[in-house]
This record gives sequence, structure tokens and C-alpha cells, in this order.
Amino acid sequence: MTDSIATSAFTNPVAAPFLSALDAESATSVLPEKRNQLEMLLAGLQDAAPAAEENPAVNKVDLKFENRLAMVRLGIATSLFYSLRAKHVATAAHSLRVALSCSTWAHRLGLEDAQRDRIEVAALLHDLGKIGIPDRILRKPGKLTVEEQLTMDCCSRLGCEILHGCTDDSELLDTVLHANTWFESRRCEDGPQGDALPLGSRMLSIADAFDAMTTDHVYRNAMSRERAIQELSKGSGTQFDPELVIDFSRMVEDRPEVLQGIVADRWLKNLQGNSGASLWASTSNDFSEAISPSLRSEAFFLNQLVGKLKDGIAFTDNEGTITRWNDAMQRITSISADAIGGKVWSDETIRLRERDASRHENACVVSECLLNGTCISRPMLLERPGQRPIPVHVQVSPVTGDARTSFGVVVVIRDLSDQASLEEKVETLHEQTTRDSLTGIFNRAYFDSRLTAAAEKTSSGGATFSLIICDIDHFKRVNDVHGHPAGDQALIQFASTLENHSRDGDVVARYGGEEFLLICKDCDNATATKRAEVIRGALERTPLSSLGGAAVTASFGVTEYQAGDSAETILARADRALLKAKDNGRNRVIQLGAGNCPVQHSEPRKRSWFGLFESGDARQISEFDILTPVPVDLAIEKLRGFIADHDAKVIRVNENQVSLKVNAVCTTGGRRRIDHHITLDAQLTLSEQKKFDQAGTPNRKWQGTKVHAVVRPIRNRDRRSRALNPCITQLIASLKSYIMGEIIEDSI
Ligand code: GH3
Ligand code: MG
Ligand code: MG
Repeated sequence: MTDSIATSAFTNPVAAPFLSALDAESATSVLPEKRNQLEMLLAGLQDAAPAAEENPAVNKVDLKFENRLAMVRLGIATSLFYSLRAKHVATAAHSLRVALSCSTWAHRLGLEDAQRDRIEVAALLHDLGKIGIPDRILRKPGKLTVEEQLTMDCCSRLGCEILHGCTDDSELLDTVLHANTWFESRRCEDGPQGDALPLGSRMLSIADAFDAMTTDHVYRNAMSRERAIQELSKGSGTQFDPELVIDFSRMVEDRPEVLQGIVADRWLKNLQGNSGASLWASTSNDFSEAISPSLRSEAFFLNQLVGKLKDGIAFTDNEGTITRWNDAMQRITSISADAIGGKVWSDETIRLRERDASRHENACVVSECLLNGTCISRPMLLERPGQRPIPVHVQVSPVTGDARTSFGVVVVIRDLSDQASLEEKVETLHEQTTRDSLTGIFNRAYFDSRLTAAAEKTSSGGATFSLIICDIDHFKRVNDVHGHPAGDQALIQFASTLENHSRDGDVVARYGGEEFLLICKDCDNATATKRAEVIRGALERTPLSSLGGAAVTASFGVTEYQAGDSAETILARADRALLKAKDNGRNRVIQLGAGNCPVQHSEPRKRSWFGLFESGDARQISEFDILTPVPVDLAIEKLRGFIADHDAKVIRVNENQVSLKVNAVCTTGGRRRIDHHITLDAQLTLSEQKKFDQAGTPNRKWQGTKVHAVVRPIRNRDRRSRALNPCITQLIASLKSYIMGEIIEDSI
């Protein structure tokens, strides 16, 4: 029996109300009197069917449905199908699968109904000739001899001869006759070939071969679908129509099983019009008059529903006796319908237990539901012999009919193991995307996101932080001397030393190669520099086993967040510090930047220039003076850092004046933060400053620099932008930090 229409159920006189209790949305209600009528008719059908003697796996209920489908489709010719099954059960089941497959395919190809009918019937009866093949050949486990093969080859002709007695539809007969004909055959030179073969035969031959390959046989185990498709491709152009092979493969990829259920339904619905009946010489189909098509299709639909659901479904009667056990239930519990049918439900037999070991429920779920008449819904564990228990969700609902008559309960078991493994996968994926595979510490992508977050947090008033960047000295030589694997070990040990020196909330990451980073939370420049010095000393003194006891040294750049910084500027500054450390002889720590000096709002008497930024207009505030205690040459050096880190462009240098084009960025908004970018023209004029004592003599020890800055937006339209003032504020704050200066309030 095919998977697609398999419904493992017990003969159950009260199945329909249970089904409607399953799911109010998906199950359609059936009137009670119609139910009885339907059940009687179905039972009658089953009685009429021959018993499946040779294959115990084909249970009675499977046969019942196989019969119904065949009968509906073949009408008077059903007897032919029954005869085929009496001869060979497996062939009948195979024919039904091939017919469903061909019908689905015909639908995909958009074939007309009459053609589709013909292909379906031809598929159902394409092996009819096997009736005339001796059992010793038909059931032979080994390879057939040439003589036996020749007898088998007569199958199609024999089938046609039998069919001839029932129909004179030449197209149908032709389709069956050529079901095994090769597309480009050397064996049958006088018959039709290629496109001259009936389309139905060409399709049938592919669907037939595919089903034969993907099913277990006495002489060969089933192949995988992928393997079977490969085999079809090998025969493409010789045995099979190449275009159809491609189309069929696509259909298999789309998993047609779902459609096949719909096809079976179509057959039943067609009863009314009885389109297939017109194919038969004598057309009288009492069957269609006897049963209402809607009832037939309803029952079929309900059985399909239970059969196909991914959740395990079981029904019990009022005594808790299991009356129905669907395929999914067999799969989830590893208990077959045969083994459990007719037994009273017990959680112990099903091996269901509470997830929470401390919770001991006395009654089993079914008894509890039957006793209280209320729905039970709880997560549980399901044990299976020799396997790990799986998490499941169990729902038990009472089934009541009209006038609240109780019919028993329906149990739905949902397998949650997929969900659990999905969570594990997400966890692993997260690890993979955030961790460096060699050292296990965070990777560059994760570091970048954390640095951006840290800069944003500090810029909106959060605590300060510092960044340490370090690079192993002469690591190329380490690789050259000790080999790459030893180099790898050294990197792992280096990362572990960094981690050992990190604190809660810090982020330790490998930026790439032999370059590492440490975001030091709540840490100013001075503290971060001290910490880097400690790490540097520790590295220098730590012998690495992978390098035969030798140690490595590293150079460090340190900087603290400062006003106006973005992730890029702080990283660029730390990198410049690292370069300096390398230039100055390696194995040392260099610190750059003025640090995060918060804006002084504490003296209310003084006019704060930041206050003006908030409310004033751009022309008023775009000109001001910054005073720094460092001499001009050092101020220029620091200005260089500002230009490099802000990616500013020097437009013009004129004596003591420099014009810059610089992109300023500011972020506005609360939870929905928006970044604004405005390109500014900044004209900076530097002049030497001296302090004078009361007598007017210059203080020789104090030499400072005044930077007169005039800032304006380059684009006219930015003059009216609300983001202009915040952007200028950020830029000036950053400039002030870089040159370690203070705003001269009177200059504003
Ligand atoms: P400097 O002191 O100037 O930093 O010199 P260096 O040799 O450390 O720097 P350079 O950038 O010239 O070379 C870096 C070396 O790091 C080259 C490369 O082979 C090695 N390296 C990068 N990634 C790995 C890795 O994953 N494993 C190993 N073993 N070596 C790596
Ligand atoms: Mg290096
Ligand atoms: Mg390097």
C-alpha cells in the first residue's frame, strides 16, 4: 500500500465523531444518519474485496481503501484490478501508486481531463498481463533467465488482450500496450518510437520505473529517490523520453505525495460524473448511485486527515480501549497499531512520563480525561527502547456527540524533538557566527558590533570605556622557526592569556591573524594603559610549550573613548597607537587620545557653549576658539590624528591656517535612532599662546596653542538641517579631545 493513501486504523464504528473532535477547523461534521449509511457501505465494500493472503503487511483497512479507489476509477473493470491483486498483491499496490503518480503528473502538465482519465486507468491496469505470468517467474527472487524475461515481456500484450474484452478505446489500449516500450528502442523497430509513442505510455514508463526502483522487492531493496532519479537520467533518450524525465524529476523534487492525496480525492469526487465509466464497453455503475459522493469524499478526507497528520493521533472508547492509532503515532512511539490496538491506554505501556520528575500524577492522561471530562494539555517525555527520551506535547480531549453523549477521548501527541534540536542548532549557529574557530574567543564581526554598541552607549551618557589592540611581534618568524601548527598553538595560548586578564563585561576578540582586541568596560585611558602593561609583562614572561618554552612579545595600542568618537574613529586611534608601539621598537604599550572628559555643565554662572549649540543658529556658533596647553608643533601632531581618524580631507594650508573637509556624524532619536551625516568645512587657524604675569612678563614655562575654528556646512541645504548643530557639536567635541584643549567661552 502506498504511503500516500495509507491509513492505519482499526475498524471503528465511532471513528467519525472522534475525527470531528480532532480539530474543529479542519474536520467537517458529518450528520449521524449519513455516518451510519456510509459505514455500512464501506463495510460492504470491504467484504467484497479478496483477502490479502500473501502479504500480512497489507492490512484490511489498507485493502478497503485500495478497493474503493480502484472501484471508483475503474467502475465495471474493478474486477480486473481485483484479479490482479488476487494474483499478486504487491503489483496491485504498485499499480495504484503509479496511477496516483501519473495523475498528479498529468495535472502538473495541464492535460485535459479525458486524457488524464485514460492515463490513470492505463496506469492502474498496465500490469494486468501479469495475471497470465506463471507464479514461478513472477515471484522469482533471483535474476530472470532469457526465456523467463521473454515471457515477462509478453505482459503488455497479454494485458491488452484481457482489456480488449472490456473496452474498445484504442488510445487506452495503445497506452497500455506501449507502457514498456523504449523511447528509442532497437528492440522494437517496427513499432512507434519517440514522440510517436502515446504520451501516456511515455509517462507511465517513467512513473512505473521510478516506483519499482523506490520500493522494496524480493530481489532488490528500495533505492533512494535521488538514486532512482539518477537511474532515470541514465535511461533518458533511450528507454525514456528525455524531456519527460526532466519534468518528472522536478515533480519528485516538489514531493508530490501531498498532491496524490488530492488526486485520490478527485477520483472519489468524479464518481458523480463518472468520467472513467465512459471508457468501458458496458457502463453500468450502481456504486455511484448507491453512495452519495459527498459522504464518500468526506469519509475519505477524514481518514486521509488522520493518516497524514504529523502529530500522533489515537482514539479510545469510554473504557480507554484504543480504537485508532495513526501512522504518526506508530512513528513517534515506536509501537505498532497491531500491537496496541484493542488494549486499554496506560501511560506506562505507551512509556509516557512527566517531564518534571518531582510531579507524580496518579492517573494516566486518558483515565484523567475520561474521569473529569476536561481537556488535558501538558509537556511530557516519551521513552523509546534503546533511544533517548523525546520531549512531546500531549493533549487529551473528551469526544462527545449530540446531547453530550460521550464516545471516549482523542489523544494528540506532538513530537517536540525537532524544536529542541532547532534550538540547539540556533545556539551552534550563534557560536559559529560570533566565535573565532581557532582560539574560541569572539571574532571580528562580533567585536565590531560590540564596539559600535559601546560607542553609542557612551555617547549617550553611558560610562566610558577603553580599547586595547595588540599584535604579536615578529609572528612571521615564529611560524618560520616553529612551523604553522606551533604558531596556531601560540595563538590559542595568547588568546587564553588575554582572556585571563579580562574582567566581567570586557570583550576579548581576535581581529584577524595575530591581532587581538580588548574592549575594557568602565575603564579610562590610564587604567587601560596599566592593564595593557600588565598583559604585556605577563606575555613576555609566559613560556609557550608549543614554542619549546620560548615566549612571544606583543605591541599594544591603547585609547579611551572620547567625545565625538564613533567605532571607526576609536579603532583608528588605537591602531595608530599600535603602529607607534611597533615603530618605537615593539614589546611596548602606547596610549593615544585625551580620554573621555565629560562636558562641564557644573558651573551655572559660566555660559556653556554646548547650551548655545542646542538652541542657537549655526552662524552664531560656527566660530570659536579652543585653547590647548601643548605647544604648536605638538598641537599639529595631534591634529594629524584627528584628520586621519575622521578621514578628513585637507583642502588648503595657508601659513598658520588649515582648511578641512570633514564628515560629521550625529545620532538623534530615542529608541529609533537615526544617524545624520553632514559634510562640514572647518577652517582652523593656529596661533602660539603665552601666559603673562601681572607685570606683563610672559611665563616662559607655559606655552600653549589657540585654535580658532570656523565651521560651516558645505551644502547649502544643510544650513537648515536640524542635525547641523548636533553634528558640529560632535565634531568640535572630538577636535577638542584630540588636541586636549578647552573652549574659550568668551570666544563663542
Ligand atoms: P610585526 O611584529 O610587525 O607584527 O611582524 P609580524 O611578523 O608579526 O607581522 P606580519 O603581519 O608581517 O606577519 C603576520 C604573520 O602572522 C604572517 C602569518 O603567517 C601569521 N598568521 C596569521 N594568521 C595566522 C594563523 O592563523 N596561524 C598561524 N600559525 N599564523 C598566522
Ligand atoms: Mg605581528
Ligand atoms: Mg599583524
